Amino acid sequence: MMTEEHEKKLAIITGAARGIGRAIALELSRMGCYTVINYLSDKDGAKESLALIEAAGGSGEIYPFDVRDAAQTEEVIADITERLGRIDILVNNAGIIKDGLFMMMEKENWQAVVDTSLNGFYNMTRPVIERMVRARSGSVVSISSASSLLPNRGQANYAAAKAGLNAASRVVAAEVARLGIRVNVVAPGLIETDMIADAPKDHIKTLIPMARIGRPEEVAKVVAFLCSEDASYVTGQILSVNGGMC
Ligand code: NAP
Repeated sequence: MMTEEHEKKLAIITGAARGIGRAIALELSRMGCYTVINYLSDKDGAKESLALIEAAGGSGEIYPFDVRDAAQTEEVIADITERLGRIDILVNNAGIIKDGLFMMMEKENWQAVVDTSLNGFYNMTRPVIERMVRARSGSVVSISSASSLLPNRGQANYAAAKAGLNAASRVVAAEVARLGIRVNVVAPGLIETDMIADAPKDHIKTLIPMARIGRPEEVAKVVAFLCSEDASYVTGQILSVNGGMC
């Protein structure tokens, strides 16, 4: 619970039980935020994220919900606002992959990826933006992917969902820019997490000018920058963190 912590900024990070989301939660905590660590199924992972934050002197809480479920996310945002009083930062990080060549792609694999990354963006961001508009301040950063900008065979569903997220973010950024709210996107390249456990890394490294895979912390630093006052004149941008792929 945020009691004596009321002065801290409040950040919600979806899918923060591991990988990039955990690194973002840690970095935002270091920046002085109270972090709401969302997870879908991995409660132990979420607890571990919180333990790491607390061990470093920060504070937060874990919160299970499904970004695909609009009714649930509306309730969650209402609960957080009522209980903790404010939402300063939203990081839409939750994402999944269901790769396959387009001509053989099952509808359910198309739908699952769009539901998580694109509909998840809507389900979280709409109720949060409504509150940020009332507060006349806030920052939203969504995690897209290099696949939304460069064609990667086998990822038509993922590319479409993330490109939709890019486009929607730019529109929302333009709509709320005058109200003191910034909306940006970070597009990582290949980052060392569970998500890429099966990727042909040796081959992919040959396509990356820096010839290495990125670390979650390298994405988290950029997200934290975009959420901070250091980025006070940055909105509507898609910032690549990908070792030089273009
Ligand atoms: P990851 O290790 O697989 O973690 C994904 C996280 O998303 C998990 O914590 C998972 O929760 C959560 N999640 C999935 N579906 C959810 C839902 N419906 N509701 C709430 N949470 C949900 O992946 P990652 O590599 O850290 O990826 C984080 C983000 O970066 C994703 O958006 C991904 O598309 C993007 N990205 C990753 C890479 C990469 O190379 N790793 C590259 C570009 C972009 P549970 O564990 O609780 O199930």
